[in-house]
Amino acid sequence: MTFKDLEIIEPILRALRAEGYSQPTPIQKQAIPILLRKKDLLACAQTGTGKTAAFAIPILQHLYHERDTYKGPRKTRALVITPTRELAIQIADSFTAYGKFTGLKNTVIFGGVKQGVQVQSLREGVDILIATPGRLLDLMGQGLVTLKDLRYFVLDEADRMLDMGFIHDIRKIIAQLPVKRQSLFFSATMPPDIVDLSRKILGNPEKVIVKPEQTTAEKVDQSVYFVSKKSKSKLLVHLLQTEPYDSALVFSRTKHGANKIVRLLEKAGINANAIHGNKSQSARQQALGKFKSGHTNVLVATDIAARGIDVEELSHVINYDLPNIPETYVHRIGRTGRAGASGIALSFCDTEEKTYLRDIQQMINQKIPVVTAHPFLEDNPEEVLETMPVTLQKPKQAQQGSQRDGNVSTSQQKRRRTYWRKRR
Ligand code: AMP
Repeated sequence: MTFKDLEIIEPILRALRAEGYSQPTPIQKQAIPILLRKKDLLACAQTGTGKTAAFAIPILQHLYHERDTYKGPRKTRALVITPTRELAIQIADSFTAYGKFTGLKNTVIFGGVKQGVQVQSLREGVDILIATPGRLLDLMGQGLVTLKDLRYFVLDEADRMLDMGFIHDIRKIIAQLPVKRQSLFFSATMPPDIVDLSRKILGNPEKVIVKPEQTTAEKVDQSVYFVSKKSKSKLLVHLLQTEPYDSALVFSRTKHGANKIVRLLEKAGINANAIHGNKSQSARQQALGKFKSGHTNVLVATDIAARGIDVEELSHVINYDLPNIPETYVHRIGRTGRAGASGIALSFCDTEEKTYLRDIQQMINQKIPVVTAHPFLEDNPEEVLETMPVTLQKPKQAQQGSQRDGNVSTSQQKRRRTYWRKRR
């Protein structure tokens, strides 16, 4: 199937060709026809699936068709809410890229910077607004943004929004949206509170589930290293000096921890940068730019800052600290192994994190192989594993697009066996 088969108009097709997109991704194949029919959509899809284009293309197409019905200055007719500034910038870049031959204009607003430039571009008029919730409410409160002409609304990364405590802001925003609108709701996971929220926003939506989260876990080669808290930095340096890698994203639980890791790596002669909420916007963009261009091969990030990182062909994800929320683990390792490529996820686990590891294994329904051949091994792994039994569910049959444990392809099994033989 091609984008043309999806009945996308020529100005957008031209832009997609310029981007080098030859075929729609599964979420695009499923969501675009629904959205072009102006139906509401509930989509369960992770970053990396091509979900931004799945919502941006139909919105651009609708606005393009309607461009003559609006006279005078541009009015905000589409709004995308997303949790972080990095994601907001990335989404705005996507609208700019896919819409470059449509004459439509977008702008992005987010907190943490002065509002002057954002207000100026709003005053000039925009068709599409991409915003983080806090700054949007702030500018709405000042009368600088009006949503009365809104026709298209996207809530992106809904689960992350809730994790980050944006629920009240979201409620305030949706209370101000015109009733007559098309609404799109994207979330990587669908726990009950997300389903509840979606009911408040959507009217009789069509549903698309592209990739149950387990599939990400399946296609990534995962391993765990038992190590004491104080030896984690030595293990990290050891791995980065001995493991071949192209680009590694290292996750730290705290901003302070991320800075400390960078200092330790630099001391060991490993070029690294940190990206987290305490860094200025320009420092973050700079760090990301250096990482994307291959100037630095190691980026140390907190979960929130990492949400917006869109780096293709990330070879390694390293969990320096294990997350206490299993879904976060899945989000993290989903940063590697994109677009069908296999990735590697290494996790460090100290004594206090063993319960997190147990919960993660339970959720992904997999036992993560333990690496014993490393110089900083803490406990006897056999004993540790005995203290945290994991009950694996039987693989479910024929779940859409899903490959659960016991249901992995032969090549995948072979790849894993070779991988572990090399390591033990
Ligand atoms: P997203 O899930 O929206 O963050 O997209 C992940 C990456 O896939 C981005 O770098 C997009 O530029 C890229 N992408 C989206 N759609 C396609 C496509 N149809 N073909 C190739 N790359 C794509």
